[in-house]
Amino acid sequence: MNSVTFNYINDLADQVILAYDISIPILDIDSVVKQIGGKVEEKADLDILYNGTIRKDGVVGFCIEVSPYLSPRRRTFTIAHELGHLFLHMGYRTNWARWQKQGESVYRRFGTSAQEDQASEFAAALLMPRDQLGEAIVKYTHGDSVDMTEVAKCLNVSPAAAINRGRLLGYL
Ligand SMILES: [Zn+2]
Repeated sequence: MNSVTFNYINDLADQVILAYDISIPILDIDSVVKQIGGKVEEKADLDILYNGTIRKDGVVGFCIEVSPYLSPRRRTFTIAHELGHLFLHMGYRTNWARWQKQGESVYRRFGTSAQEDQASEFAAALLMPRDQLGEAIVKYTHGDSVDMTEVAKCLNVSPAAAINRGRLLGYL
């Protein structure tokens, strides 16, 4: 992913957080989805390759279906990933013409792996905004080591996810 796309996605996630007044850390992703105008449904028989899907629901809403067998963190990330498709690829609140063209068919995979990477970057940016991650890292830096377990707790993500993103942003 080039830096233009990376910055665009991170800026968009920041705008979504502001526009919908989303509290960080996200402790209840289902209510975030509701705030944005959609709903989450559990679906046991999703294809094993997919943890979640998203589709337009009615004229203005959307529905995310998610496997009931995911750990809480995995479930949160999966739903945040689907929100990435919503804003980046389906045009929701970003491109009205594109949103109008969305059918109600279920999106299982958005064609290219580039779009999958973009949706996952949006998820990371939504759960771990650049500023909040940076502040948490500063807060939990002692001497020349960072307590990433505490940093991850601050943002309600796994330590592995916080470390990956901290490195990607050049904070670690
Ligand atoms: Zn996807």
